[in-house]
Amino acid sequence: MSGNPAMVMRVVASAYTVAEKAGAIVRKVLHSGELGIVEKTGANDLQTLADRLAQQSICASLSRHFPKLTIIGEEELPAQEVPEDLIEKGQAEEILQKGCPEEFKTLKEEELVVWVDPLDGTKEYTEGLLDNVTVLIGIAYGGRAIAGVINQPFYNYQHGAGAALGRTIWGMLGLGAFGFQLQEVPGDRRIVTTTRSHSNKVVTDCVSAMEPHDVIRVGGAGNKIIQLVEGKASAYVFASPGCKKWDTCAPEAILHTVGGKLTDMYGNPYSYDADVKHMNSAGVLATLHNHEYYVSRVPQSVLQALRSD
Ligand code: AMP
Ligand code: MG
Ligand code: MG
Repeated sequence: MSGNPAMVMRVVASAYTVAEKAGAIVRKVLHSGELGIVEKTGANDLQTLADRLAQQSICASLSRHFPKLTIIGEEELPAQEVPEDLIEKGQAEEILQKGCPEEFKTLKEEELVVWVDPLDGTKEYTEGLLDNVTVLIGIAYGGRAIAGVINQPFYNYQHGAGAALGRTIWGMLGLGAFGFQLQEVPGDRRIVTTTRSHSNKVVTDCVSAMEPHDVIRVGGAGNKIIQLVEGKASAYVFASPGCKKWDTCAPEAILHTVGGKLTDMYGNPYSYDADVKHMNSAGVLATLHNHEYYVSRVPQSVLQALRSD
């Protein structure tokens, strides 16, 4: 399909190239050695020059193309002119060529909300755990995450100069998910993935209640959803209000596209409307299969702790 792609396909096609540009910025700042680290709410809530530049690049590039989009980025930045070299004008041809799902064909720019996490896994980025890092651009309509782009700037970085560095995966409800091979955890093993740098007793109590065969502790919401769809983990369990809508919108869209589910710890969906509160206060539970099992295992004490937050 060419000629006149539907508006939402053009937004996703831009988001793809914009996420690649942001990934390149994230690599460049790392190689410069000057991370420009700022503590936001504390030592476990950091912002670097890469977070700032990547968000400027993503938000300015998208709003240049699509001035009526609502774009919500993680970082609070002073309003300022964005240098021209941060603007990405390209659109992924591969996405423009795809037919838009019927239900999204007539969507208008002003009906979309774009949630931007310019660098997910900042703590790990500052510690050199580079494959935990992602750039997340989620697209919501009617409160639902309908499409998402995840760039992993350092994918393959441990495989030497011969391997292509970085990758971009994306997905759209009703269309499919691309850029990775969908895999499942073999057998009935319950492998739980959870935070490595934002843990507490409620978080660990909830993980234990799942009776996991194994627990993986890594950084990044995007990274953990990639683990689910690539068969490295069976559930992402995070009984904490620490994750925000920009952490979950793009990952949720991709996960839902391949038949998985992302909810709060009660099993209820989050809304991605422009006016929702940013915190995912009732935690994050994401799975490819057997979501009900994990919901049923969440202890009352954990639900109470989240509710009182
Ligand atoms: P993690 O799994 O710890 O990497 O967290 C996933 C996402 O949620 C990252 O963007 C974190 O920065 C964010 N996050 C989780 N918990 C907190 C917290 N307590 N304070 C600030 N950000 C958090
Ligand atoms: Mg994040
Ligand atoms: Mg971030």
